Amino acid sequence: MAKRGRNKRTASPPRPRFSRTPEDDVSNYNSTGPLPIRLYGDPVLRQKALPIRKITDVEQKLAKDMLATMYAAPNGVGLAAPQVGVLKRLIVIDLNRDDVSSKPLVLINPETQRLDGESIEDEGCLSIPNITAEVKRANEAVVSALDLNEETVSVETEGLLARVLQHEIDHLDGVLFIDRVKGFRRQVLRKKLRKLKNNTLRQ
Ligand code: ZN
Repeated sequence: MAKRGRNKRTASPPRPRFSRTPEDDVSNYNSTGPLPIRLYGDPVLRQKALPIRKITDVEQKLAKDMLATMYAAPNGVGLAAPQVGVLKRLIVIDLNRDDVSSKPLVLINPETQRLDGESIEDEGCLSIPNITAEVKRANEAVVSALDLNEETVSVETEGLLARVLQHEIDHLDGVLFIDRVKGFRRQVLRKKLRKLKNNTLRQ
């Protein structure tokens, strides 16, 4: 997910964070660097990702590459594997991307255990550049998953992190935030989306 760009209005551009990611995680796998992000119109974004049965070097490296990709994108706070063309159930999130000491979340086979409350906020997506819209989601979420050590983790949260979790888990089922925009607001987006899709298909 892309956070609505507060940094856009500040004088100094956000520091590139790619240099930070290789040391962050539990593993020593080197990232090959940011991967190309699949854009709206690419059919891979509409497919269902498959559960990861075993966490191998391939998944460790994928997590690294996804973090590098997310940090390289301005305002990127979350990324799901289908967004880099990989149909596996893996998501990465870092809400504090500008804080060098923060530890990103890497969640494998995330499963929503509980959703509660309601909140309406602007959302964007790295696969749908320059489009934001208000999306109604649960305000609280409990998600269980595996981490890169194959340990079960449970994330119980609210607010922005709950929103990003829901956004990224949607990606694993081929669902995009614009699917959750209804009625008039969806009509407003339609033209922009068609243009974006045509651009993607032309590439
Ligand atoms: Zn997204």
